[in-house]
Amino acid sequence: MQTATTLEVLRKRVAELRQSGASIALVPTMGALHEGHLSLMREAKNSCDHVVASIFVNPTQFSPNEDLDSYPRQLVKDSEMLEAEGVALLWAPDTQQMYPDGFVSSISVRGVSEGFCGADRPGHFDGVATVVCKLFNQVQPDMAFFGEKDFQQLAVIRTMARDLDLTRPHVDSIIGVPTVREEDGLAMSSRNRYLSAKQREEAAMLSMQMREAIARIEDGQNVGRTLTALEDALLGAGFDRVDYADLADSITLEKLGELGDRPARLLVAARIGSTRLIDNMPVGQAA
Ligand code: AMP
Repeated sequence: MQTATTLEVLRKRVAELRQSGASIALVPTMGALHEGHLSLMREAKNSCDHVVASIFVNPTQFSPNEDLDSYPRQLVKDSEMLEAEGVALLWAPDTQQMYPDGFVSSISVRGVSEGFCGADRPGHFDGVATVVCKLFNQVQPDMAFFGEKDFQQLAVIRTMARDLDLTRPHVDSIIGVPTVREEDGLAMSSRNRYLSAKQREEAAMLSMQMREAIARIEDGQNVGRTLTALEDALLGAGFDRVDYADLADSITLEKLGELGDRPARLLVAARIGSTRLIDNMPVGQAA
């Protein structure tokens, strides 16, 4: 595996990979890799000739009170993991490469970025959309792979690609990969390592309670009352705050008061201490 830390080297290496028409998949990450990230690499490898992975802890998607400075960084270990997955090229720019002096532009995807995590983390999705658009332009991949774990992020990126007529990748070549979970159901996340042993046990209740709520909604029980019961159950299980627990349209992320014919998703964000966990799951036959 080769590593590029400057745009000049990245472009040279990508051009080499492209020789004789080989296809390229991009998998953007912030590092501190786990099995969830690796499943994206595997899906990417199954679909394209070469995989380019990026590791960049993007400062513009963190609010001033968030964990930018303490976010886990382990580039050597991550590189070994990527190499073992057969990744061809690691793009690991520093902040100066990504945002040189004088950088002033931003992409804002209204609507789909405004509720849920967008409401709790002002500016977060502008930071995400802008850095992902830059990564797309830098690598110009045929396909790009993102986790359904960050369901709203995936919706924001697809909307951006559609609205801005992106071609590398085209919106239809932005692939969502199912969430990889720990044995007890907790969605894998680089932030899970912030949890104490007790908090880690409590965190498992998130996916369990979500599954129960989904069974009730699919059984025809009232959506509003089921979501309130879900929040109460999480607070009772040791969560300190539930930022949101909503049923939403899977494409537009509009909130739904009842399950209809269109694919729906249960989306939850909840905090244990200062750690914020998110999860989402499909709801109903059509999902
Ligand atoms: P991050 O490094 O947290 O920015 O995540 C990089 C990519 O990995 C994003 O597309 C995430 O949605 C995806 N990802 C993170 N956790 C998981 C997981 N548990 N299962 C599948 N994909 C994941």
